[in-house]
Amino acid sequence: MKKQYLLIIVLACLLPFFHGCKKETGYKTLIITGQNNHDWQASSPVLKTILDETGMFSCEIMTTPEKGGDMTIFDPDFSLYKLVILDYNGDSWSDKTNTAFFDYVKNGGGVVIYHAANNAFPGWKEYNEMTGLGGWGDRTEKDGPYVYYMRDSLVIDNSPGRGGNHGKRREFLVRTRIMDHPVTQGLPARWMHGNDELYSELRGPAKNMQILATAFADSAAGGGTMRDEPMLMTITYEKGRIFHTAMGHADKDGGPAMQCSGFIVTLQRGAEWAVTGNVTQKVPFDFPDASGVVLRRDFREITFEEALENIKTYDVGKSTKNLVCIQHHITNLSGDEKGLLEAEKTMVGVLLSTNASVEAKKLLLRELSWMGTDYSVNALKDLVNNNDLKDEAQFALQRLQAGK
Ligand code: ZN
Repeated sequence: MKKQYLLIIVLACLLPFFHGCKKETGYKTLIITGQNNHDWQASSPVLKTILDETGMFSCEIMTTPEKGGDMTIFDPDFSLYKLVILDYNGDSWSDKTNTAFFDYVKNGGGVVIYHAANNAFPGWKEYNEMTGLGGWGDRTEKDGPYVYYMRDSLVIDNSPGRGGNHGKRREFLVRTRIMDHPVTQGLPARWMHGNDELYSELRGPAKNMQILATAFADSAAGGGTMRDEPMLMTITYEKGRIFHTAMGHADKDGGPAMQCSGFIVTLQRGAEWAVTGNVTQKVPFDFPDASGVVLRRDFREITFEEALENIKTYDVGKSTKNLVCIQHHITNLSGDEKGLLEAEKTMVGVLLSTNASVEAKKLLLRELSWMGTDYSVNALKDLVNNNDLKDEAQFALQRLQAGK
């Protein structure tokens, strides 16, 4: 017995050692939250998941005291981090913390401003210079111009009026304005974003700021300006780099605004740029285009199985990104007969299921027509009697049999 106790004590003593030795991978990142007019308990873990997923960042979440609490105890050591993400819109920090953050950025620290963080600290001059543009908090012309695109020209508009507005949440088209910035390089010129608030009428000093992407705030949804409003921005502040995304209003589980692969990928790329000034991440196959929104329900690049599940609701005119994922998976399996047969069986399963759309089944029939085996031939025989699918099924069968 004594020996066992001794072993337990020794192991217990070693635990902190092992923990301490755990290799730190990625850029140390601090996510600051704790007060927000948004559901920060939902959004901050999602931000952490999104960045940790890249393998390039190692995130920790730090919460401030609650509203009205003693802010002097919120005193992070910014020098420990390469990146600070603000998911915060609340009480002012202490002067000491403000100065420490200011010094961190001045000396080259990276920052990501996320959604309502651009509402924060309306009276803090340096903060507003770091965010470029902000909204609400009684922001008016005293805080800087409106900045937007109108008929493809950048407009700096000093007219008086409120800062910050948005209409009803909706899916909207994002337009890339600078195609050769490291963050946007390789992204489509236009892509659909998941259901979100479209921030408009932001205003601020807008110094050393580049607008990477905009979205058109139509008046039909309310709060519309009929202008192309900034969605993604970069700001440089002395040696520091700031990436600012106005998107990503969170629901309980993140919701479509945060699940949108366009939001996720631009955040990951923007974060890397804020740390290094460069982006090494590849644009993933599931980045949306203008044809439709792509949601990553668990924030990872979607898998073959998820794509097959998603494609069940496919209809003409909707995004075919899920099909691209399926094709990608099949290409990767080239030469792996067992893997290909497994994929084929799963696809045939969807084809014979009752909960997939006719248009989805047509897409799958087209794929199976060139990669199918006897397994598909047997499964397709009955489909030639299906009124909705008989043409496509016949075509696939002929192709498969001709290929033998
Ligand atoms: Zn919001």
